Amino acid sequence: MPGYELMGEEELLEIRDIFYKGGVLFRHGFEGLRNGCYKVREFEKAFAAAMGAPHALAVTSGTAALRVALASLGLRKGDEVVTQSFTFVATVEAIIESGAIPVCANIDFTLNMDPADLEKKITPRTKAVIAVHMLGTPARLSEIAEICCRHNIPLIEDTAWGCGGHLQGRPLGTWGEVGTFSFDFAKTMTTGEGGMLVFRDEKTYLRAAAWHDHGHENNPAVPRWEDTRASSGFNYRMMELQGAVGLAQLKKLPLVVAAQRKNKAALWKAIADLPGIEPRAVPEGAGETADALIFFVPDKDSARRCRAELLKVGLTTKILPEAFSWHFAGTWHHMPELAQAHGGSLEKAFLPSQKILERSVSLPVTVKQAPDTPKKVRSALSLALNQGR
Ligand SMILES: *Cc1c(COP(=O)(O)O)cnc(C)c1O
Repeated sequence: MPGYELMGEEELLEIRDIFYKGGVLFRHGFEGLRNGCYKVREFEKAFAAAMGAPHALAVTSGTAALRVALASLGLRKGDEVVTQSFTFVATVEAIIESGAIPVCANIDFTLNMDPADLEKKITPRTKAVIAVHMLGTPARLSEIAEICCRHNIPLIEDTAWGCGGHLQGRPLGTWGEVGTFSFDFAKTMTTGEGGMLVFRDEKTYLRAAAWHDHGHENNPAVPRWEDTRASSGFNYRMMELQGAVGLAQLKKLPLVVAAQRKNKAALWKAIADLPGIEPRAVPEGAGETADALIFFVPDKDSARRCRAELLKVGLTTKILPEAFSWHFAGTWHHMPELAQAHGGSLEKAFLPSQKILERSVSLPVTVKQAPDTPKKVRSALSLALNQGR
């Protein structure tokens, strides 16, 4: 979960620094007032270095990052973009907002995109694929990237939940043309609201940088109000306060991920031998952010009972099973574009995903997990699972 658990003195010092140096809160210009203080710029550089990516662009949210990513790829009306049925609404919203048609592939037991179903969803109109690393576990990127490459379709990684994770040693977010990140308050590192994109190609980066800033090319040869431009755009600029917090949080990221991995392992050790529990599938070589511990139980009722027993002792679950509707395309009747792209019935289109999700349970993993949590989780789950037998 948790950059917010470690919010403190380091973030405050970075913010103070802005005010000591003149209090300029805008990322561009005001050179005479800011005494060389550029927090967003510095945050982008540090983030790119941490991810081993050549370019990074900070934006206002993870949702904005997805929208900017699609704009940078030059999508047109009527193009199709394939993502997955289990994701946050934002992934599909960004596709709709860009004028493209949202298509969702079903998931497999990784709870991420099923590569076999992706292959089936690709048509001549498919112009991008967005793979999501839901709840901190990498998607099957080797297979997905191979399929995209074979069809010559750019891959975007929605890394909102994968920040600080890797697959086969390669950081999540850097497998595709573009990786997008969210720093909202529930994510592994946070700036309150905020997001980032990383790019492997300079031209895509430059298009994105201009588009997120009304088309401004920030041409150093002219003042900003006489700036050159090649396209229209929008405003998704991050502000300096967020950049400052991001700099402090980024330094804590390795610590957050290490603590979550350790705490997740302790939870799993406590429950692995309970009857009827199977672990979430994980691609080979996955370095998870360990944001949550997910496992499958025999059926929907068992999943509900697990949550009920955890609540009784002051613990909880995270998204699965209680809130999967916010994260499951099978229930998104408020998005007519989606039903239209899937033969009219979301229930039918995503039944295979639903069968997996409804018997999934997700336990939140925190940095400051209490030492007795694994034991308490075990006894609650053991009660829940034995009731069904
Ligand atoms: C959080 C999240 C987003 C959106 O990020 P915001 O910063 O909240 O706009 C997008 N995709 C996924 C998978 C997310 O979990």
